[in-house]
Amino acid sequence: MKVVDTIQSLREHLNDFKKSGKTVGFIPTMGFLHEGHQSLFKKARETADVVVASVFVNPTQFGPNEDFDSYPRDFEHDQKLAEKAGVDILFHPEVSEIYSDEDMIQLTVTDRTDVLCGKSRPGHFDGVVTILTKLFNIVGPNYVFFGKKDAQQVAVVNGLISTFHFPITLIPCETVREFDGLAKSSRNVKLSGDERQEAVHLSKALKIGQDLILSGERSSEKVKKAVTDYLSDHLKLGKVDYIEVMSYPQLKEEDHIEHTQIIALAVFYEKARLIDNVIVEIA
Ligand code: AMP
Repeated sequence: MKVVDTIQSLREHLNDFKKSGKTVGFIPTMGFLHEGHQSLFKKARETADVVVASVFVNPTQFGPNEDFDSYPRDFEHDQKLAEKAGVDILFHPEVSEIYSDEDMIQLTVTDRTDVLCGKSRPGHFDGVVTILTKLFNIVGPNYVFFGKKDAQQVAVVNGLISTFHFPITLIPCETVREFDGLAKSSRNVKLSGDERQEAVHLSKALKIGQDLILSGERSSEKVKKAVTDYLSDHLKLGKVDYIEVMSYPQLKEEDHIEHTQIIALAVFYEKARLIDNVIVEIA
């Protein structure tokens, strides 16, 4: 595996592959890699000839009071995990390699972001599409891999690719979970022991909502109430940011459920805000 930190060296390495007609799969990450990221790397390995991953904690997607400075980082560990999972090129640029004082264009997402994380993190998805537009142009991938754990992000990336006609295929990948159902996340290390134990209820609450829909419930209000009631009974330390039941990927509230739904939630703990979701297909 090659580790590169400049755009020029990344392009030099990739050009050789591209000239010989090889396809490129790309996985953007913020590092502190775990099995969730690893599953994306493996999927890319199966799909593309060359696998490129980036580790870059992107400042523009963090709000002023969010955890950019304290976001966990461990690049030595990341290199080992990426190499083991079959990554060919790991791109690890400094912020100054990606953003310049001369940058003069801002992107704004106009749909699918006035709800869920977009609502509670204003500007977050503008930062996400900005970094992804830069990275897609730098890497020039044929395929990109994103986790459904960040389902709103998948919906926005879908819109980014279609809006700007990137010749890229988006491959959404299943959420990887801990033994007890907690979605794997780089932020889980910020939970205290008691918070970690309690956090098991996030996925349990989602399961209750999912089972209701699968057993025929079509009132999104009733589904939302069941998830909300479960969480208020079981969370003592966490504070709910949102619980929503919406169409997916449109992210619109439907009183009567008719289309594929997402049940999504976010919970604040002292040092971490956790998100999770389940996407339920309607037969
Ligand atoms: P991050 O480093 O948190 O920005 O995540 C990079 C990519 O890994 C995103 O596409 C995430 O959705 C994906 N990802 C993070 N956690 C998981 C997980 N538990 N299962 C599957 N994909 C994940």
